[in-house]
Amino acid sequence: MISFRNVTICFGGTLALGDVSFEIEPEEFVFITGPSGSGKTTILRLILKEIMPDIGEVVIAGRNVAEIEKSELPAYRRSMSMVFQDFRLLSDRTVKENVGLALAIRGVPEAERDGKVKEVLASVGIESKINSFSQQLAGGELQRAVIARAIVGHPKILLADEPTGNLDPDTAWGIVELLETIRKNGTTIIMATHN
Ligand code: ADP
Ligand code: MG
Repeated sequence: MISFRNVTICFGGTLALGDVSFEIEPEEFVFITGPSGSGKTTILRLILKEIMPDIGEVVIAGRNVAEIEKSELPAYRRSMSMVFQDFRLLSDRTVKENVGLALAIRGVPEAERDGKVKEVLASVGIESKINSFSQQLAGGELQRAVIARAIVGHPKILLADEPTGNLDPDTAWGIVELLETIRKNGTTIIMATHN
């Protein structure tokens, strides 16, 4: 599903990744671990084609990302989803509107959105928060809402960058268990964590 072949990338004089190779199979749940500055986020950004390697190849679903044209990039990135440490939802919209927006972007007709939003919120355990705004949610609930928005379009790949970094250990474990459930439903998951 994801191959890194002898990938090297530098930022200015800083070597971020040096000759990195690995394979990730479909529906694997992979952790990228290492201290701050070790190159975890750089790996995720390479998968998204936000940056390109100086040497080596990144191959996603059989396709070298170097061959993806600029015009194809939005569709390419929509085939995967990203969850960050700092729970980003639009603060002037409800949970329902935030998750619904992800469906609108993917061209899902308005009439179908509500049902899908309710279903995904139930699957992450926060259906009772459907009309809440982000400032009304606890950290773990907010991260569940962000994950709901990330998975509602059924991405093949979910990239999570320190998704538990701002959560207490019990809440963090709940999020990891939720990600494992998502994996079982057919999504490949790559989670970067220093923890
Ligand atoms: P991690 O996510 O493991 O904390 P990063 O992938 O963010 O690590 O960074 C790896 C290294 O590359 C660090 O030394 C970082 O300072 C450097 N780096 C990452 N992105 C940039 C950038 N856009 N410009 C300059 N240096 C960067
Ligand atoms: Mg990082």
